[in-house]
Amino acid sequence: MQDTFSAQLYIQHVTDHKRELFYGLIRIHVLVHASQEPIFGLAMMEELEHHGYRIGPGTLYPLLHGLERNGLLKSQLKNVDGRRRRIYTITSAGRKALATARAKVDELHHELHEKRPRSIL
Ligand SMILES: [Zn+2]
Repeated sequence: MQDTFSAQLYIQHVTDHKRELFYGLIRIHVLVHASQEPIFGLAMMEELEHHGYRIGPGTLYPLLHGLERNGLLKSQLKNVDGRRRRIYTITSAGRKALATARAKVDELHHELHEKRPRSIL
């Protein structure tokens, strides 16, 4: 019993760890695509898989809602081929956040690829 419990705890920790590390990157991918054209969940899930992120609806939809709650996306329900679909578009605040994120990712990319990142001591 004890072993099962700690195994579950461990899996949970790994999940939380991934979430903290990668969800910001996934949000930036979402903003990049929303800056090009209106997006919806299923297409975004497929696109994220191209980038190496397998992310289900139970994770992506709350992430989209969070971006909307923070004013970076806005959404509306539309009928597409007889189905109701929530379509997301980027807001002007979302475009500003994306521009800031681009500069920060460039900065991070630079440091990641430096042969010797500078010492902080
Ligand atoms: Zn993409």
